[in-house]
Amino acid sequence: MKSKPLRKIIYPRIAIIMLSILAFFTIFATYVSKQYIYRQSEDNLVEVLKLVENYIYENSQEDFKTLGDDLNVLTNTSQIRVSIIDPDGVVVLDTDKDPSLLNNHSTRPEIYKAFNREENSIIRHSATLNIDLIYYAKMMNRPLYGLTHVIRVAMPYTELQLAYRSIYIYIGIWAILFLSLSVVLFIFLGNKLERPLNDLATTAQQYASLDFSTETFISSNLTEIQEVFSSMRHMAKKIVEQIDDIQQQKEELQVVLDGMTEAVIVLDPHGQIIESNPSAEQAFSVKGSSLIGKYYLQLLRNSELNEIVEDALDTIGQPIQQSEIKVQLNDHFYQVHLSRIGIETELESKNILMVLNDITTLMHLEKVRRDFVANVSHELKTPVTSIKGFTETLLYSDLSLDPQKSKHFLKIINSQTDRLHAIIEDLLTLSRLEQSHNRADDFIPINLNSVISDSVQICRDKPGNEERTITIECNRDLQMRGNSLLLEQTLINLIDNALKYSEVTTPVKVICSKLPTQVRIEVSDKGYGIPHSSIDRIFERFYRVDKGRSRDKGGTGLGLAIVKHIVAQHQGTIEVKSEEGEGTTFSLTFPTGEGS
Ligand code: ADP
Repeated sequence: MKSKPLRKIIYPRIAIIMLSILAFFTIFATYVSKQYIYRQSEDNLVEVLKLVENYIYENSQEDFKTLGDDLNVLTNTSQIRVSIIDPDGVVVLDTDKDPSLLNNHSTRPEIYKAFNREENSIIRHSATLNIDLIYYAKMMNRPLYGLTHVIRVAMPYTELQLAYRSIYIYIGIWAILFLSLSVVLFIFLGNKLERPLNDLATTAQQYASLDFSTETFISSNLTEIQEVFSSMRHMAKKIVEQIDDIQQQKEELQVVLDGMTEAVIVLDPHGQIIESNPSAEQAFSVKGSSLIGKYYLQLLRNSELNEIVEDALDTIGQPIQQSEIKVQLNDHFYQVHLSRIGIETELESKNILMVLNDITTLMHLEKVRRDFVANVSHELKTPVTSIKGFTETLLYSDLSLDPQKSKHFLKIINSQTDRLHAIIEDLLTLSRLEQSHNRADDFIPINLNSVISDSVQICRDKPGNEERTITIECNRDLQMRGNSLLLEQTLINLIDNALKYSEVTTPVKVICSKLPTQVRIEVSDKGYGIPHSSIDRIFERFYRVDKGRSRDKGGTGLGLAIVKHIVAQHQGTIEVKSEEGEGTTFSLTFPTGEGS
């Protein structure tokens, strides 16, 4: 329905009602007043008529001419006209005209009615006098000169009109007063009702445009207006509270989204991104630029993922057929989960939530685990097969006659058992390191010189190392906080490697030095060196550059993995510099832990 302002709806209606009331009262008052004045005039005429009739009866001995003259004198000042008409309609007496000049009056309505015994009054134009008169006529009570006459009195209608005029003036004044009062009332009502209503409308418009800051005061003291306004204010307060709540929830949600390691993307029914988080930007390599507004086809350069997203978008209102998928995007592996989200029930919702969980590390760990199991099995299988073979040979062959051969076999079995033992020992060490949580609080001050000296001594005592040159350059007082047994294990592994992978004639050096807040231990040799392509892999379990050489030297392939673990537990770093044919240097850097 088309709306109109209050002024246009209420005011015309009130004006029509007021004018109708005014018109009604004016007409009614005019009518009643005129009737009253008319009756008064009529009563006056009746009185005059009675007086004139009595006068005629009292002077009935005189003829009509004399009576007429007398009455003329009597009525001269009052403008009253008296006429007497005989039954034939002939005017026998008239105070204003000579009766002989007057025509027959039997057809005059008042005369006609009077002869029919009906006293009556009438206002009509007098052809005789050429003015409007008010007549009153009746049949005379007694006959005159043997005839029953009609007596008629009349007075000029102008007399009545004069009286009416004053009535019109009074009514006119009253109407003007009424209209003036109405206008004043309109203005008063306008101020009283229209202004607060306008204030309310302005306030409502402000609220609709979510402007709750401007304070509006309603100047009206009308209870209804005050109640509406206070309800509006209450409503505005509630809306502000709810907006604040929503804003806070949104901010919290944004913080959660931003902090999530999972990439989160929300697609609208057209496949356009309407929400995303920094992890998603990273996953799709658009870091720093927003994904919002882009279409999934621009981003998901993976046919399998595109297919399931397309399916989900095409089947709104149905459960998602395939909601889980593993995909590779930019060298990373993701577990993608699709679901429908919205304020309605899950199936009715049109937006799609896509969560991408980076499982690259998980997959890598899984691969490492698989490789480790395969490697361990392989590493254990080789000595076990060898031991079993030589044991069976000793058992089932007749070698008792050749003690030298038997001894050789037993030596092999012994060395393979040592190998098995070494592998199992290293595996146990790794397992212990993985399970133990050496914390900085448990570390104690260690004298590096003595740990290095002990480690070198242990290595030198190993068979075949007696002649090796191992030099130590270390300040006697150099200290760091740590676990001395683990540190010794690290140094033994590194010195042992340096000795294993170099010619017996070349020296091995262990140098320790003090940095501002750290200590550095370097183990260097002038051995075979490590190819550049292998440097990153030598810390992997069971990785060896030269498998045959490592095995021959009794290596397990676990030494550097153990070193890496121990260094990490001491919050240290490890660096390798190596040139093939020239030698290798392992540099370990540890915090001294002083002041902690
Ligand atoms: P291994 O028991 O085989 O020595 P490690 O984990 O200690 O196992 O070392 C892994 C591999 O790294 C070795 O097989 C060897 O190829 C290489 N490597 C370690 N230290 C040295 C070194 N000082 N010089 C040359 N190669 C080394």
